Amino acid sequence: MSATDTAAARLASLIGEADSVVALTGAGISVPSGIPDFRSPGTGLWSNVDPIEVAHIDAFRRDPKRFWSFYDQRFQTLGDKRPNRAHAALVELERAGLLDAVITQNIDRLHDRAGTRNLVEVHGSIAHSSCLVCHLRYELEVVRARCAGGSDGVPRCDCGAPLKPGVVLFGEYLPVEAIGQAESLAAGADLMLCIGSSLEVYPVAELPLRTLTSGGRIAILTQGRTPLDRHAAVRMDGDVVDELEAVLAALGLAIPEAPPPEP
Ligand code: ZN
Repeated sequence: MSATDTAAARLASLIGEADSVVALTGAGISVPSGIPDFRSPGTGLWSNVDPIEVAHIDAFRRDPKRFWSFYDQRFQTLGDKRPNRAHAALVELERAGLLDAVITQNIDRLHDRAGTRNLVEVHGSIAHSSCLVCHLRYELEVVRARCAGGSDGVPRCDCGAPLKPGVVLFGEYLPVEAIGQAESLAAGADLMLCIGSSLEVYPVAELPLRTLTSGGRIAILTQGRTPLDRHAAVRMDGDVVDELEAVLAALGLAIPEAPPPEP
């Protein structure tokens, strides 16, 4: 048995024993979809810009044209990406009744597109943008069309105000409702699967601690070290797709073949 299979078998038995399992995911789960982790040096969208300057709520308010010249590129990059087999593995666990919810810090909406039903997006998502004046919400496709159609590249509400992406920007508060849901899921979990997150950024740094202090266990499937490694009942640090496939296999499950590409 390989080290992955041994760890996968152990994790499968913990999943089987637990009454409540919650997954917490970060950038690492989207890397196989071709979305680089922006914290990796020299890669990612943020390598040539200062995100705190460009993607800050003050920058949006001060200069929406500059803000959207950056954010439209981001929408284009993310809008074409598809869920990968790691996302699909979590859908299968949920379908089998072995996973209660996915909490994610990713804004790429790939869990949603993969079919996860109970999803908490603690940093928001690109799926919608909204007007800060009249609070109307617009779908991604409409926002991209308005970006392309406007004279200055700024997508605007019907009222004329610039739209803001439904993503938590630097300088903004996290969505209260989503954080509350994430905290109560973490506190109620017997087992939290921490996948593809370095567990360093609030709130994902706090949620596994909430599970631990409530008497639950955590498993960490992430490449590179995390501050919580020594608390992990299972620690895996290889390819996230291989690892989740091994866990599913140990549970007698398999990831369904991907549906045909959308037209
Ligand atoms: Zn409006």
